[in-house]
Amino acid sequence: MTGCELDAALRTLHPGLRERAAEHIARTERAGFEVRELIAWESIERREELWRRGRALEAGAWRVRDPALIVTHSRLGWHPFGFAYDLDVTREGKPLRSARAWSRVGELGRTLGLDWHGDSSAQWNNRHHFQWPMGAAGVWPKDAAKLFRQHGSLEALWRELERRVPELRGVAA
Ligand SMILES: [Zn+2]
Repeated sequence: MTGCELDAALRTLHPGLRERAAEHIARTERAGFEVRELIAWESIERREELWRRGRALEAGAWRVRDPALIVTHSRLGWHPFGFAYDLDVTREGKPLRSARAWSRVGELGRTLGLDWHGDSSAQWNNRHHFQWPMGAAGVWPKDAAKLFRQHGSLEALWRELERRVPELRGVAA
């Protein structure tokens, strides 16, 4: 990922998360890792497509058909609204595999106030994924989806969420 591609990906995030993601990447690289890719905004359609991988609709409900094909446990999540990103991290050119190495990257995100659940044994644990702690403010992706439909743009959704989540305020766009 070039610096230019990284900047473009960062710009799809809410300014508050954008600032923390840039700092997270800088701290991760100072700790001796390389950030190879940042996946930030993804469309609702893209999330749905990822979520359906390895699943099949049976009697009106989605069920796991092939666990090896599962790439996400979050059907909607915060990616379509600019409040989540995934990091692809290497050390000396090799993908990070150890839980210990990942927990360093995860802790760097947590110290910036982000949610990271990569050390959890929960089924939805995803080491690459970081997000704004919206759950602490009682705001969920389905709420954001509804507001997005009402307001019609990401910027308008962001302004609306800034009214509900005080910590998002005061960050210049
Ligand atoms: Zn993610």
